[in-house]
Amino acid sequence: MHALLVEDDDRMARALGTALAQRGHTVRRVGRALDALRHVHEAGFVLLDLGLPDLDGLELLRRLRTVCDAPLIVVTARCEERDIVQGLRAGADDYVVKPFRMAELMARIDTVRRRTDTRSGGAGARPADPGGVGGAGGRPVRTGDVEVDLAGRTVTVAGVEVRLTRREFDVLAFLAARPDEVHSREVILDRIWGDVLLAASRSLDVHVAGIRAKTGRADLVRTVRGFGYQLGSPTTPVEGDGAR
Ligand code: CA
Repeated sequence: MHALLVEDDDRMARALGTALAQRGHTVRRVGRALDALRHVHEAGFVLLDLGLPDLDGLELLRRLRTVCDAPLIVVTARCEERDIVQGLRAGADDYVVKPFRMAELMARIDTVRRRTDTRSGGAGARPADPGGVGGAGGRPVRTGDVEVDLAGRTVTVAGVEVRLTRREFDVLAFLAARPDEVHSREVILDRIWGDVLLAASRSLDVHVAGIRAKTGRADLVRTVRGFGYQLGSPTTPVEGDGAR
């Protein structure tokens, strides 16, 4: 299976790369969060170090989770209970603290892969994905005249790029990656803010309002009252040019 190894330490990366290769995995190693986001679509599973030079690892974890369902194991020196809980809440399937025993890590990888097998479509094979969910093949998600490119982190409306803030994009990408599902506020807050608590909860509404306003497509995000949000099917607003 193809592994994405996100690790900025060369010695650690070499040791992990060798161990993974010995177990028959192919490995792409990246040392920066930016490259992790670029290559996550090809990964059958992900090993993620949290201490990276260009972005906080937990933030990266949340972003990876908005676009990718592959099993993800955090491998980090951060060993505080708070870090572990945050990592798991942000969507990690397992959390291994450095220094670790290599055999144990490999066993954990196998366990996580078995457990998440149905989620990721089985044995690393991506689901056929008839809905065109970009999370799988990196293909943009289309709804109405809106196109969300999860890998490139861009949104176009009627072919014109719209600039969203990072968080606005994260929210939209999360909905777009699973367009058939309604997502509860708690899950969205948990995945994107890493916090289900009140502080961020108004902030979600503000971000949804931002997405609607900036795209000019109020239906792009559907509110499910008292529960959460879903990707909608926006209709093009009438331009008032008399054409009907
Ligand atoms: Ca590191």
